[in-house]
Amino acid sequence: MALIVQKYGGTSVGSVERIQAVAQRVKQSAQSGNSLVVVVSAMGKTTDGLVKLAHEISATPNRREMDMLLSTGEQVSIALLSMALQELGQPAISMTGTQVGIVTEAEHTRARILSIEAERIERHLQEGRVVVVAGFQGITSLTDLEITTLGRGGSDTSAVALAAALRADCCEIYTDVPGILTTDPRIVPDARLMDEITSDEMLELASLGAKVLHPRAVEIARNYGVTLVVRSSWTDDPGTRVVSPVPQPRPLQGLEIAHPVDAVEFDTDQAKVALLRVPDRPGIAARLFGEIASQDLDVDLIIQSIHEGNSNDIAFTVTKSSLNRAEAVAAAIAPALRHEVDPDANEAEVMVERQMAKVSIAGAGMIGRPGVAAQMFATLAKAGVNIQMISTSEVKVSCAVDAEDCDRAIAALCEAFQVKNSPVKRDLVAHCDLAIHDGVVPPVRGAALDLKQARLAIRHVPDRPGMAAQVFRLMADRSISVDMIIQSQRCRLINGVPMRDIAFTVAQTDAEEAQAILQQAAPELGCGEITVDPAIAKVSIVGMGMVGRPGIAAKMFASLAQEQINIQMIATSEIKVSCVVAEADGVRALQVVHAAFGLSGQERIVVPA
Ligand code: ADP
Ligand code: ASP
Ligand code: MG
Repeated sequence: MALIVQKYGGTSVGSVERIQAVAQRVKQSAQSGNSLVVVVSAMGKTTDGLVKLAHEISATPNRREMDMLLSTGEQVSIALLSMALQELGQPAISMTGTQVGIVTEAEHTRARILSIEAERIERHLQEGRVVVVAGFQGITSLTDLEITTLGRGGSDTSAVALAAALRADCCEIYTDVPGILTTDPRIVPDARLMDEITSDEMLELASLGAKVLHPRAVEIARNYGVTLVVRSSWTDDPGTRVVSPVPQPRPLQGLEIAHPVDAVEFDTDQAKVALLRVPDRPGIAARLFGEIASQDLDVDLIIQSIHEGNSNDIAFTVTKSSLNRAEAVAAAIAPALRHEVDPDANEAEVMVERQMAKVSIAGAGMIGRPGVAAQMFATLAKAGVNIQMISTSEVKVSCAVDAEDCDRAIAALCEAFQVKNSPVKRDLVAHCDLAIHDGVVPPVRGAALDLKQARLAIRHVPDRPGMAAQVFRLMADRSISVDMIIQSQRCRLINGVPMRDIAFTVAQTDAEEAQAILQQAAPELGCGEITVDPAIAKVSIVGMGMVGRPGIAAKMFASLAQEQINIQMIATSEIKVSCVVAEADGVRALQVVHAAFGLSGQERIVVPA
């Protein structure tokens, strides 16, 4: 007999008939001998409706009252599903987050789970009941009983956390699509279903816009080794398995908050090439990285900062042994690009740094915790290490630094995060073969689009250790998560002080607040103007198989160039490439990139309303 946690999303319990169909499914599984905990979301678009009501009363509703309101949606569906089960003769009981004892941080509207009381649920299970639990909600403590919610889409996280706390055999997420697809079928109807995906890849996809799973649910599954499956509510097809390597044992106390960082990694075999003042028009990145790829050179980090006037900077890192060839490619194409921007300029601007190192902190617990990156930057600043390039992913923050600073940086980071260091794994693909048993690892597993981001740019930030730390501490103090942090490569002297621009993306809902905070701090930081552009889209490709395979980023850039889509910013991590484009180009960008990597399947996926 297995203990299974099943979760049904809003569409799956969107009507009385659908609730009855879910009850049939649950009953069947219970009758075949399983113990079942069923987590449900609010019916259909109930939560959206409640948010709208609140905003009709207040532009900035009180967060505690917001949680009080939003948590009601799930209370309706648990009661109805329990009734439907009882009607079928299946003993069942509904429980709110409070009744279960799902204890969270006291952070209204975005609380993380600290612990779950298993005892009451276990008692009901032993007495033969199906326990129907309200997703998305918790309480601040067993004595305070203040209701919290986990953030939109958080029922997935409730389900996986319950599976971890109850040591369930499996967590099944039932939804309105057949499983995890190569991209959102609402935008690309011929998206293909995957049998399996690694949790690292899914973490990236989920945080880059694939809302089929809440990223924190994937994080918990990865940290606690929960067997996780995403399946259709309407069919018996097996869906998609999210596979994780066997994790280190960890305590259930502090479930979502303990140990945000698992490891400090470093790679001293890095060199940087930067091209300054290249034209800001479609096709430039495609051309540069196309030529690099045709030399079979593998590029690690790529960043392209926001434009200044009519030009951009592009920088990338390669292994030291590839540097001369990469430099030659850059030097060959730079003069023409430079001439296009400024016909009077007589020198192409290619900058090379031969001795670089990359230091990274890694761990799934960083998701939505901007304080972790801020702490990394602060630690490096305190150690007197200047950060040359920053690359972020959901599970890793990497900084390119001078090679001579590497040892100092690692020692400081290991002490700050209380972990041991290890050289970076260059054989991620081999590691992933172990985890996934499907033989060939495709370079790109899936693509995602995020239309809910805004870009902030801070002009003229003094180029000295500690500036990134200060900026991101300000964001972290307000719980604003930051992604795609990019510093410009060109440095300009203003009143004798070298200055760079820093650009990054945040959720649109946080953009105004972020701008206001930075504007307030600008005099103290000594920086210039702060601009916001909400009309952006971020399109990303994700895949473990891109590690060590030249030409993947180049292919993405080429597919965008072919459609005349201008790339405004580029940021990469080991297993993803993200491009910011104009919002109006977002959907087309996703479609062309998906097609370029041959991700389409044979069937059209129709998502029920
Ligand atoms: P639920 O209410 O069941 O939690 P969600 O709406 O939160 O469902 O998530 C399912 C939706 O996620 C799908 O209908 C689909 O439009 C969207 N989606 C985005 N990216 C993907 C992807 N890569 N694979 C599957 N679905 C995706
Ligand atoms: N009902 C909540 C929401 O719409 C939680 C969820 O569905 O996962 O965000
Ligand atoms: Mg969901």
